[in-house]
Amino acid sequence: MSKQKIILITVIILLVIGVGGFWGWRKINSQKAINNNQWTITKTQKAIDNEQQSTDNSQETIDNNQNTIDNKQQTTDNKPQAVTSNQEPVTGGNNQKAIDNSQNTIVKTQQVTENNSTSSTKIVQKLVAWGFQKSSGRKIDTVILHSSYDALGSDPFSVSGVIAEYKQAQVSPHYLIARDGTIYQLVSDQNIAWHAGVAKMPDGRTDVNSFSIGIEMINTQDGKFTSDQYAAVNRLIGDLKNKYPIKNILGHSDIASSRKTDPWGIEWKKVNR
Ligand SMILES: [Zn+2]
Repeated sequence: MSKQKIILITVIILLVIGVGGFWGWRKINSQKAINNNQWTITKTQKAIDNEQQSTDNSQETIDNNQNTIDNKQQTTDNKPQAVTSNQEPVTGGNNQKAIDNSQNTIVKTQQVTENNSTSSTKIVQKLVAWGFQKSSGRKIDTVILHSSYDALGSDPFSVSGVIAEYKQAQVSPHYLIARDGTIYQLVSDQNIAWHAGVAKMPDGRTDVNSFSIGIEMINTQDGKFTSDQYAAVNRLIGDLKNKYPIKNILGHSDIASSRKTDPWGIEWKKVNR
């Protein structure tokens, strides 16, 4: 081998080594660069992760804030609800109670009115055109009780039959009490009804019609008054006592004993005199 050849081969070997070394160095550097890039990427990723975390944290904070807001809202929502649900029944309930109480009062008042009208005597107006003299402002202090029956018809207790008899005789009481206790008004209180005839009071007064109220109760001469009639006459007497200063409650026989025997079979202990 010549010296030149040896040198050439050595140069080639060196070249090969050099190129290989350079190649290798480059490769290592590339790897390093990759590694560096990788590191940078990792770092960036970390940064992103951190950012994400901070975003997550922020989100969490926002979520927490939202929760707080939601809670507040819920509290606010609950508050009006609680207030509304508390107020309505209480206020409404009280008002309702007040209304109910008012209603009760009205109902009670109504009941009192009804009781009063029940306890106050129901009188059927059946004013007649005969048997009285018109008057006004007369002083009433006496009630005279009578009894009569229908002697002409088939029913001695017939109200219309009894009234027909009064018409025939041209007489009338102020009131007529039927067997069932119904009270008929035939002559107004202020008019002078012709029921007593010739009579004289225990105190000596005559012209008894002028200061008295006449009450006829349907009964036969040998019969008895009904309990309804006693109840009715007592209610009527009570009403008359409230209106006028009644001093005397007497029977027809008490003021005209020589010619009258009525009221027949009356039990005076049952009359509130
Ligand atoms: Zn009489």
